[in-house]
Amino acid sequence: MANHPVFFLVYLLALATSLHSSTAVDYTVTNEVPTTPGGTIFDKELGVEYTRQQMKSASQFIWNLFRQPDPASRKNVQSVSLFIVDNLDERVVALASNNNINVSDKSIQGLTGDELKRSFNGVLYHEMTHIWQWNGNGQIGDGHLGNLTEGIADFGLKSGFVAELNAKLKDGYSPDFFFQILGKTVDQLWTDYKNIPRN
Ligand SMILES: [Zn+2]
Repeated sequence: MANHPVFFLVYLLALATSLHSSTAVDYTVTNEVPTTPGGTIFDKELGVEYTRQQMKSASQFIWNLFRQPDPASRKNVQSVSLFIVDNLDERVVALASNNNINVSDKSIQGLTGDELKRSFNGVLYHEMTHIWQWNGNGQIGDGHLGNLTEGIADFGLKSGFVAELNAKLKDGYSPDFFFQILGKTVDQLWTDYKNIPRN
């Protein structure tokens, strides 16, 4: 009997350790094209360590945006790998799938200093949002609603809406979500959206 408190303490420590290891996310960065113009700039001006730090910061920012302070409320992602590549379609700057992010070396080429970092981080935060966002259990993908996940990645500033919508998308998707959150139908929102002047 006297040993029980000790066992209990060991149990708590083991639990704490396993909780910690299951919530820590691994970030890896690989420059697959160190000799191309963009790949060379990546190594010289950005680099693996800088990019890993940005990925960590982006994740914190997005969890905050999605109001997911508790790891249990987030999408279960153990590791995120980023690759600098030269084989994306030339119209594509970067893309995210299966917890991998591919960044085109051409998106880095020709930029330096603050401009390079601003542009690179913009791409990084957008793609990291795709890593952490729910996708309605795969139900999103038809018509203009296929752009919904893009909208979440781009309109992150409207955080109240984004957090609510993302939370609802955990288990499924219904066009009614928009009405529930914003009091307008998708068609009304789409009309409003098209009427916003932009340059
Ligand atoms: Zn996107």
